[in-house]
Amino acid sequence: MRTDLLTRLAALAQQREQAGLRRRLHTVTRADGMWVERDGRRLLSFCSNDYLGLAQHPSLIDALKRAADENGVGSGSAHLISGHRSAHAALEEALAAWTGRERALLFSTGYMANLGVMQALLQRDDLCAQDKLNHACLLDGAQLAGCELKRYPHADVEGAARQLRTRPDAAALLATDGVFSMDGDIAPLGELAALCHRENATFMVDDAHGLGVLGAHGEGSVSAAGLSQHDVPVLMATLGKALGCSGAFVAGSASLIDGLVQAARTYIYTTAMPPALAAATLAAVRLAQSETWRRDQLQALIARFRAGAAQLGLPLMPSSTAIQPLLLGDAQAALAASETLQQQGFLVTAIRPPTVPPGKARLRITLSAAHQEGQVDRLLEALSRLPAVGPV
Ligand code: PMP
Repeated sequence: MRTDLLTRLAALAQQREQAGLRRRLHTVTRADGMWVERDGRRLLSFCSNDYLGLAQHPSLIDALKRAADENGVGSGSAHLISGHRSAHAALEEALAAWTGRERALLFSTGYMANLGVMQALLQRDDLCAQDKLNHACLLDGAQLAGCELKRYPHADVEGAARQLRTRPDAAALLATDGVFSMDGDIAPLGELAALCHRENATFMVDDAHGLGVLGAHGEGSVSAAGLSQHDVPVLMATLGKALGCSGAFVAGSASLIDGLVQAARTYIYTTAMPPALAAATLAAVRLAQSETWRRDQLQALIARFRAGAAQLGLPLMPSSTAIQPLLLGDAQAALAASETLQQQGFLVTAIRPPTVPPGKARLRITLSAAHQEGQVDRLLEALSRLPAVGPV
């Protein structure tokens, strides 16, 4: 008899429930800076990717309102039909200039950008080498392209080299997160770029968590590593994290961007982002470039958190970025720690398998320029009282 798809899906949810891994959706009923109201409680969030504290900035809100007054809300169609507006073009120019690339192309989400780039670049006979801890959408992109996907051990340049050398004649893409989304560490970008030069492979960096945060003017992890378009010809970054908005872009040579316009299905066959959102994002780019104090404040909070956590013997992971996970190992322990923190007024999510490898469940703590020193101290105090978070 034919398997009923809905029954099978329901069984999956049941299995996750039994394994203590069921995902649950909560509604935030109010957001005010780093404060959120959830399930009737006011919580101080340490799990947002709004690293520069721009999501509620009045300049972004004004830009969004003004552009909505002028353009309405929806773009009405895909970029290639009639959806591409001046606000999109202005944002693309600003993003290209910021990241030192010839051109940039907007996508509606980072997930779609990565799927589109991979599907446009890669064919069945090609090779794609990826860090094991890359974001899900990079992995999915290679699978969608149908090429051979090889995952090298985390940040292991020699491992990546071995994989590329298995097929020296195959067209190859090496893709890595710039800043790893669940670990917070930075990829060995200089060494990977040199490897790609040696092996004639194309290098792609997903800088979702580096743009705005790293580099003197927030240009991101690639520029902070002293690399240019020549070293990293395919740069992708998102607009929903440090920039406080939503969407993503790919930046690179004029010919890369033209190629994506021809071939990236997630660009061609989808509605362009609302132009008012593009206008708000441009305001965010200007603030991220000019208000260097936001990065200084964030760095100071990162240093404060790490020093305090080290003193308390908390299981810090080796990260110098806004993502400061505490490794608890056991999924139930991570969940219990997150629940206890919530009772004390903090929102810190437990990240469990399969998002992270088995035995590597953690509290993914993220810091923002919108946090205050005292708030970080209060979080440290609460963490030190958690039974599950002993020294490792
Ligand atoms: N890449 C990385 C490294 C990410 O962390 C994320 C989002 N979590 C994405 C891509 C996807 O971006 P978006 O949320 O815009 O789809």
